[in-house]
Amino acid sequence: MASVAQAQEAQPRTIEDTEIGEILHKECDPIFAAAGLDPKSIQIAMIEDKELNAGTVSTKLIGIYTGLIQETKTPNELIGVMAHETGHAAGGHTVRGDAEMQRAAMNPMLLTLGLGLLALAAGAPGAGAALITSAPYFGELGAVGYSREQESRADQAAVTYLERSGQSARGLVDFFDNFRYEEVFEQARRYKFFQNHPISSERIESLRRRAEEQPHYNAVDPPDLIALHEVMKAKLFAFTQPPQLTFQKYPDTDNSYPARYARAIAYYRETEVETAVKAVDALLVDQPNNPYLYELKGQILFEAGRAKESEAPHRRSVELKPNAPLLQVNLARAIMAQEDGKRADEAIVHLQKALTFDHENGFAWELLAQAYDAKGDGGDARLAAAEARFSIGDLVQARIFALRARELLPKNTPEWRRATDIVLVANPTKDELRQMSGAPG
Ligand SMILES: [Zn+2]
Repeated sequence: MASVAQAQEAQPRTIEDTEIGEILHKECDPIFAAAGLDPKSIQIAMIEDKELNAGTVSTKLIGIYTGLIQETKTPNELIGVMAHETGHAAGGHTVRGDAEMQRAAMNPMLLTLGLGLLALAAGAPGAGAALITSAPYFGELGAVGYSREQESRADQAAVTYLERSGQSARGLVDFFDNFRYEEVFEQARRYKFFQNHPISSERIESLRRRAEEQPHYNAVDPPDLIALHEVMKAKLFAFTQPPQLTFQKYPDTDNSYPARYARAIAYYRETEVETAVKAVDALLVDQPNNPYLYELKGQILFEAGRAKESEAPHRRSVELKPNAPLLQVNLARAIMAQEDGKRADEAIVHLQKALTFDHENGFAWELLAQAYDAKGDGGDARLAAAEARFSIGDLVQARIFALRARELLPKNTPEWRRATDIVLVANPTKDELRQMSGAPG
C-alpha cells in the first residue's frame, strides 16, 4: 500500500493499492457488467478521506472515499452504494442538468486525476504536488448535487443491476437507513454524501418496497467476499489511522486474519521493524501464496533501509502476481536502491513491464529515467523523463526533456520519433519547431 503527499495535511490523498483494488473490483465488477459496462475498462480510484463519498467521473473512472468503505458493514452495502453510483454514471446524470457544462468540466478533471494516480507508487518523489491539485477535484466532483429525480432513477437502476447480478438490494437500503436519523435531524453531523444524494424517509421507503419485491432480496454475500471485505477495511484502517487506534480496534486478543494483518501494519508504521516482520511471517504461515504479504514484507524492509533484504519478498510478490504494475515497480526500486550499475538492465525489464500494464504510471517512468542514467544511457533517460512529465500533464518540462532526448538519441529510431511526438504535442515554440526541422541552431 502506498500513500503519498504529506505536504498539505488538510488535503485528501489519493491512494492506490493492488490488493484493495482487486477486492473492490471483485465486489463491483458484477454491477458494472449488469449495467452494460466493461469492468476491465473501469478504474476505481480511492481517496483517503473520512467523508462518506463516492463519485462517478465518467463510466471509466469511479472514485470512492476510504470513509465510505469503512462505514459499510458488508460487501452488499458497498456493492449497493456503488450500484447507485453506477446508476448515475450510466444514466448520464449531469451537474445541474447541463450536459455541455459537465463535459467541459470533465476533461480537466480526468487529466488532473491522472496526475494524482501517478502517486500510487510508494513514496513517489515529486508526486505530492500533483496529488494536491488532483484530490480536491474529486471533492468538488462529489459536490455536484443530484436532483431528487436523478436520485430516484439511480436507486431504481441500482436495484436492477443488483437483481440482474443475483444480489440483494437490502444492503443499499440498510446503508441509507443507518444514516437517515443523522441526515434528517442533525445538521451538524451531515455527510457530504447525503448533500449530494439527498435522502428522505419517502425515498428510503420506496427503495425498500422495490428491493423487497425482487427475487434475490434474500440473497447473501458469499463468505469469501465477506472475509475479503474485512481484510480491506483492516488494511485501510491500519494504513490511514494512527497505530494506537489500530491496536485499540484490533487488540491482541483478536486472532482473526484481518486483526493480525492490521497489527502487522501498525507495527511497521511505528517502525518496530522486527515485530512487524515477525507478524507478517506468521501471516505467511496461514497464506503462503499471498502476494500482498510479500509486498508488505518487502515494503517494511525497504523503508527500514534494508533494500537488499527487501528484494526477495518483492520478487516473490511479482512471481505470484506478475500483472500488477505496482509490484513490478517495488521490485525495480529494491534492485536500484542497491546501487549496482550492472543491475540497471534488470530493473529496466521490470519497469517496462509495469509500463505495459499502466502506461501513465509517472513514477515508473521516473525510475526508468534513473535506471537509464545509471547505465549511462542519456538519450533514453531523457525520453523516460519526458514521458514522466507528460504523464502528469507537465507539458513544459515534457518538452524540455524530449528536446534533449532528440539530441542524444540516434535519428529515426522509434525512441527518437517518440521524443519528436512528445515535443509536437507539448506546444513547442516556433524556434523549437525551426530547430527540429533541421535548421542549424
Ligand atoms: Zn445519488
